[in-house]
Amino acid sequence: MTHPLLDLAPLTAAHFASIERRVAALLSTEQDVVVTQGEALLPLEGCIRSGARPGSTALNVVTGPYGQTFGNWLRDCGASVVDLAVPFHTAVSAEQVGKALTEHPEIDFVSLVHAEAATGNTNPVAKIGEVVRAHGALFMLDAVASVGAEPLLPDAWGVDLCVIGAQKAMGGPAGVSAVSVSDRAWARFAANPQAPRRSYLSLLDWKERWIDSGRKALLHAPAQLEMLALDACLERIETEGPAAVMNRHAAAAAATRAGAPALGCGLAPFVGVAAEAAPVATTLRTPAGVDASEVVAAALAADPSLPLAAGGGALAGEMIRVNHYGPDAAQDVVQASLAALGTALGRHGHTADLDFARKVISETWLSASN
Ligand SMILES: *Cc1c(COP(=O)(O)O)cnc(C)c1O
Repeated sequence: MTHPLLDLAPLTAAHFASIERRVAALLSTEQDVVVTQGEALLPLEGCIRSGARPGSTALNVVTGPYGQTFGNWLRDCGASVVDLAVPFHTAVSAEQVGKALTEHPEIDFVSLVHAEAATGNTNPVAKIGEVVRAHGALFMLDAVASVGAEPLLPDAWGVDLCVIGAQKAMGGPAGVSAVSVSDRAWARFAANPQAPRRSYLSLLDWKERWIDSGRKALLHAPAQLEMLALDACLERIETEGPAAVMNRHAAAAAATRAGAPALGCGLAPFVGVAAEAAPVATTLRTPAGVDASEVVAAALAADPSLPLAAGGGALAGEMIRVNHYGPDAAQDVVQASLAALGTALGRHGHTADLDFARKVISETWLSASN
């Protein structure tokens, strides 16, 4: 008997290329798209190791934990790094980026995270792209947590390297990812003697052996299950319509931001300004003296299917993440998540008004969906 996951025909080069075209359409990009055979950290590290070198200076914008990782890779490549860190409950502004570029004219590489699922903020990439382009630096964007949840237009925004993964708002697999690469970025990589070659991290290998040879022969056997899942998730997004998918995420974020304070037990949006809050996930601050990881544990004990997590690292005590992405960008999930959090907070002596929160969530969902 054949097994649906095991007895698969090999994934053809033509199929692989068609999945890349689907990703390019989702990103509205004319640039080369490479589907990379690993979780999104693979192309992110590949981009940095291909673009950075001794003698280059990078502006690394840190608005959450991933920015810290990028800074470490940039330094490891021998680049000088200017870190621009902002508090995790805010976005970075184009003015802040512009000021850093003016103060350090030698900057030739900028790394930025679009939306941060871990901290719940989103950055104004269109405006930042304008100042980066005016300066002339190569612009790398981690769009793993924004793709599918909010508009993402690498070509219009001057993004040279746009990295996505399917595991958040796209509702797809975690084991494959993709990057769009501009001509400028290819030229920079090619001129970098340190850029990885004949390496799993090498994007230039894919350029030479896959793209420039007409996408006829793959470099190695692709991660077949993940590629099929990526294709299926792209098809599902096309069927629902990317605008409708983004709309669900925007409604989930708006309803969570409005519903949490409506519980009346001291739960507040962690990101203060609504325009700086990411549609992919909403972070909440627990009332003083209440440990966020305990509240999450109690809520998950009541319903393990809820997309709830405590903040990472030092934020575990004060931050709750509502990961309303992919299929969880749904009103019933937001309702159940906040009801469970309200009930759990009740055990800490904070009586929650579940009925009022329910009403606020459904009203906010309705007006945000129109
Ligand atoms: C989720 C995410 C990634 C991918 O990391 P995982 O730890 O595999 O989830 C990368 N960048 C950002 C900004 C993310 O939110």
